[in-house]
Amino acid sequence: MFLCQNEGMDVESICPECGAVLPTGQSCQDLFDQMLLWEWEHPPLGEVHHLMVLCYHLQHPHLYSPEGLAYARRLLAQFVAQGLSPTEARQQNRAQVSSANRNWKITGTAVAFGAYDQPMNWTMTAVDIITGGPENYGERVRAWAQSIHQVLSRP
Ligand SMILES: [Zn+2]
Repeated sequence: MFLCQNEGMDVESICPECGAVLPTGQSCQDLFDQMLLWEWEHPPLGEVHHLMVLCYHLQHPHLYSPEGLAYARRLLAQFVAQGLSPTEARQQNRAQVSSANRNWKITGTAVAFGAYDQPMNWTMTAVDIITGGPENYGERVRAWAQSIHQVLSRP
């Protein structure tokens, strides 16, 4: 066995959950934190906050419970396909998600977490948002949401 010549040099890693090729030493969680920081530093970027959070979680489905994942998929369709605002979606889903009526958890646990039936070949990941920089953030996050909706709508 030969020693890898790249030993000690920058090594890319792949997120086991969303398949993103990550910058050295970073995890998708780091990218998520970076996106939140941009939104905080440049408040107009917060306009797509709901889409960013949804996209990130849909590509890391273990963060949801199985029911939470099903709900998130519907929410994405409401935002992307029906063009609902977060307020409109909240109103439309109120009955289903109000904690008084809800007997399921949105977040995943070690034993009950969301997963897809098949591997999802995502066409965009958080890496694409970060490489676009804050100046393209709104546009890229919207494209990210569209791309996830497309992949999830595949028959
Ligand atoms: Zn990831």
